[in-house]
Amino acid sequence: MQYDKPTVMPAAFFGHGSPMNALERNRYTVAWAHFGRTTLRPRAVLCVSAHWCTRGTAVTAMERPKTIHDFGDFPRTLYDVQYPVNGDPTLAARVSHLLAPTEVVADLSDWGLDHGTWSVLRHVYPKADIPVVQLSLDVTQPLAYHYQLATRLAPLRHEGILIIGTGNLIHNLRTAVRADGVAPFDWAARFNEELRVRLLANDHAGLSDMDSLGRDAPLCIPTPEHYLPALYVIALQRPDDGMAFLTEGIEFGSIGMMSIVIGADPRDVAGNLEN
Ligand code: ZN
Repeated sequence: MQYDKPTVMPAAFFGHGSPMNALERNRYTVAWAHFGRTTLRPRAVLCVSAHWCTRGTAVTAMERPKTIHDFGDFPRTLYDVQYPVNGDPTLAARVSHLLAPTEVVADLSDWGLDHGTWSVLRHVYPKADIPVVQLSLDVTQPLAYHYQLATRLAPLRHEGILIIGTGNLIHNLRTAVRADGVAPFDWAARFNEELRVRLLANDHAGLSDMDSLGRDAPLCIPTPEHYLPALYVIALQRPDDGMAFLTEGIEFGSIGMMSIVIGADPRDVAGNLEN
């Protein structure tokens, strides 16, 4: 489809939840697929996943990134999943250039695509026909560092690149109850609403400062890696970009499934209304 502003790509954060979402069809995955079908087709995807945590920053620079099954104790069918997509070494080099003077290691063999990436992209682009590059998370750095780093990626939105983050805005596995229909814990529901308010208010400073996120933050973000990918999308929001919620919900009591899109045509994020 064509946008009124066809040269500017949106950016999206996906709350990926259980790795089993890679195989399932549910209200989250249906909305992800709708987004893929209706959004302007990108030249390539740059993905920041919760599951590639490094000291320093790296980018996948191989021609054919391997599918990584970075989890344990799931059904065989999940280990059989492949997402046979091309990489994009030229985009990897462009990312390194944009992030300078921050050093970015060009990874040619260590990583590939982890399940944070392919469990979502399998639904968004099921044909695996759009090249994908992953950018790692330097987990030695605070939230504000990631926000600032992400702002340097803004030119890519004008170059046909879809920037996505994949994680969970609320992610406490210790308290999670792995069953369907579990009600959100009070603190998770409260924090979810707090995030919603801040996102709608474009409160970028508040969203990128752990100390200001309030008393529920330590339980909802016990470790930052699932939250950080969202900052790579929030940081790209310009004053004239709308903020929309592609999916909402809290699974297992303490896993937030909110997915957000900035700068999209509202029709692209209507998928959650159709199922
Ligand atoms: Zn995850």
